[in-house]
Amino acid sequence: MGKPTGFKEFDRKKVEWRLPIVRVSDYREIYTEPKEEQLRTQGARCMDCGVPFCQSATGCPIDNLIPEWNDLVYHGRWREAVDRLHKTNNFPEFTGRVCPAPCEGACVLGITNPPVTIKNIENAIIDKAFDEGWVTAKAPLSRTGKSVAIIGSGPAGLAAADQLNKAGHLVTVYERADRIGGLLTYGIPNMKLDKGVVQRRLDLMADEGVKFVTNANVGQNVDAKQLMVENHAVLLSTGATTPRDLPIPGRQLNGVHFAMEFLTANTASLLDSNHTDGKFISAKGKRVVVIGGGDTGCDCIGTSLRHGCTQLVNFELLDKPPQDRAIDNPWPQWPRTFRVDYGHEEAEEKFGSDPREYCILSKEFIDDRKGNVTGIKTVRVQWGKKDGRMVMEEIAGSEEVIGADLVLLAMGFLGPENTVSEKLGIELDPRSNYKAEHGKFETNVPGVFAAGDCRRGQSLVVWAINEGRGAARAIDIYLQGDSTLPAPGITMGSALLSAGS
Ligand SMILES: Cc1cc2nc3c(=O)[nH]c(=O)nc-3n(C[C@H](O)[C@H](O)[C@H](O)COP(=O)(O)OP(=O)(O)OC[C@H]3O[C@@H](n4cnc5c(N)ncnc54)[C@H](O)[C@@H]3O)c2cc1C
Ligand code: SF4
Repeated sequence: MGKPTGFKEFDRKKVEWRLPIVRVSDYREIYTEPKEEQLRTQGARCMDCGVPFCQSATGCPIDNLIPEWNDLVYHGRWREAVDRLHKTNNFPEFTGRVCPAPCEGACVLGITNPPVTIKNIENAIIDKAFDEGWVTAKAPLSRTGKSVAIIGSGPAGLAAADQLNKAGHLVTVYERADRIGGLLTYGIPNMKLDKGVVQRRLDLMADEGVKFVTNANVGQNVDAKQLMVENHAVLLSTGATTPRDLPIPGRQLNGVHFAMEFLTANTASLLDSNHTDGKFISAKGKRVVVIGGGDTGCDCIGTSLRHGCTQLVNFELLDKPPQDRAIDNPWPQWPRTFRVDYGHEEAEEKFGSDPREYCILSKEFIDDRKGNVTGIKTVRVQWGKKDGRMVMEEIAGSEEVIGADLVLLAMGFLGPENTVSEKLGIELDPRSNYKAEHGKFETNVPGVFAAGDCRRGQSLVVWAINEGRGAARAIDIYLQGDSTLPAPGITMGSALLSAGS
């Protein structure tokens, strides 16, 4: 334990974000440089409470050894801290930036005081390690002669690739996009996760022997069955890429897009040409309505603001969450409370108020008579309970029209596309995800495994890493009969944290 009285002496202090008014004019990361002394005192707040709920139960899905590295940071032993961190997490520079930090919701100090700033400390450890040159390529000393094909290069596929390569297998990752990284690259915008940070890790993995093949759309221009023949095992990590639609009148109008059409093109154009190629959907000078919240909705808000939209509204069908935990949402569960994310803060700075409108239902997109969207007919709703279930009721007389030139649909995802599953005869579960049990990860087709959002449904980067690591161990056992790769725990977090991405 760092400082026995630390939690009494020091208040929680997060690493600041750059000022909204400044950061909204560029695509650089929103974070400021952390101060080492601040990180040490924040590490000192950890009580080393004996039963670290932060790293188990409803806390960190990859069982990060949080009290250990809090202590090491307090004592300035950064190099040991990064070694502890890499034991459980292949990519702390991703989670340290984008994880919603279920660990902090489960921190024991959080029962009476604001929790330890665990996520900031994690990020500072890995950033310092890269700055100091401590993170270097370490290729395996020997090879097993077995090969594994991984389809999909998001955090699940990458975590599995990293683990399987460490175990000595030859790993090839196939990705249909022109860049590796899945949603780390083409979902989460640059201001939240710099693409140079992603590429830095990919370069390391390539130096360690992982092969990456881009523009390889398995099931289309790469034969899925051939991959089975040519490899000893196959991992499906294709993500939950089928977006939930809003099939109301006017859906076909110009200017109504899925969030991912908007976000992917934006990042591609930014990386390809710093937006000079014009190959993106611009929000400049437009009245934007984002339908749906979560990370995706917030990223649409942040991106629209950077384009220069003139008006911004974010529709949420549900009620506004409470400021504090509700009675049925006690510690150490993930707190389902009201949060202000970076995009909300920026919108408030630019337009004077939080962009979110709650309890609002979209009924129809309105046509400008030239085939373009010009507004949305809406009605307010109220929520109640019937037979223990939430029921929604429209409020008569509350209909209104909200002007919009660009509508972005951010209402979640409905599982993987069927391109690969149909070709390989993969069974689906009732939620249309690939059917495979967590811990085993093997599908109904022997030698074919599944991990990440395509198996568990849309989730989080940290859960994708949990699944990738778990699937790697399962594949290693399948190939070798045994494995020295660690098995990430099955925390309760999955049940409690269906974080709205
Ligand atoms: C806009 C957005 C923002 C998000 N923000 C956050 C956040 O801030 N924090 C957080 O924790 N989580 C966030 N999430 C969720 C998180 O990104 C996902 O849970 C995570 O990326 C899932 O990882 P994955 O590896 O399972 O799949 P993905 O990251 O979706 O990767 C799947 C990859 O498979 C590829 N693929 C699919 N089919 C094929 C095929 N047939 N052949 C070859 N390749 C194929 C896809 O192109 C894709 O690159 C966000 C999600 C979105 C959509
Ligand atoms: S990965 Fe997420 S849950 Fe785990 S320690 Fe980091 S911020 Fe917390």
